[in-house]
Amino acid sequence: MLVTTRFLAKSFQCPVCAGPFTATTVEAVTHQGQDSDFFPHYLGDDPLPFFLVQCPGCQYCAYPDDFAVGEFQKHPVKFELIKTVLTQPISRKLPPDAVRYYLAGKIYEAQQRNPYFIGNLYLRGSWCCRRGDNRKAEIELQQLAVKFLRESVERSTVGNPDNLPAVTYLVGELYRRLEDKALAREWFGTVEEVVSDAEQQWILDLAKKQAELNEHFLN
Ligand SMILES: [Zn+2]
Repeated sequence: MLVTTRFLAKSFQCPVCAGPFTATTVEAVTHQGQDSDFFPHYLGDDPLPFFLVQCPGCQYCAYPDDFAVGEFQKHPVKFELIKTVLTQPISRKLPPDAVRYYLAGKIYEAQQRNPYFIGNLYLRGSWCCRRGDNRKAEIELQQLAVKFLRESVERSTVGNPDNLPAVTYLVGELYRRLEDKALAREWFGTVEEVVSDAEQQWILDLAKKQAELNEHFLN
């Protein structure tokens, strides 16, 4: 039998306002297939709203590990930042699940975290918008995702070098989805240069397929 999404309630103490609280976290996910920007087709309950934990007091929002005191002290953030982000006009336009990814992304930006992780937060936020059929909000977050994922390739900050072909492809695919044909073409064309072994051949095949779509079809 396939394992579907499993949740786990955990206790946290907020590193910003010190308030204790309990939140639902994701313990396991399974997916079958994915969209061409790697949005997994999850089996069972949707885990997307629960990958991030948010303090009910000050609204600080991050991955569960970021709540560890030692982790937070490496790059502390102030409540003022959270308040500023949440009062921006874009925060009022995004669906609630997407706002959390947007806020976590802005916090990671202020902490000067690896652009690869920043880009991933915005990408997940864009998936929340797609799931809710909010194309305008999806575009806003895809633009941020591609900016940081591109930076992670250009600055070689992609954590695992084996992921480089996939991230390079993803930058091309996000440009295609944003209808920037020229940049999509350029990035799809780069995938071949970074694919280093046979196991990554599928990325090259996917890049070729999406490059075709980019040339011949409207999005
Ligand atoms: Zn808090």
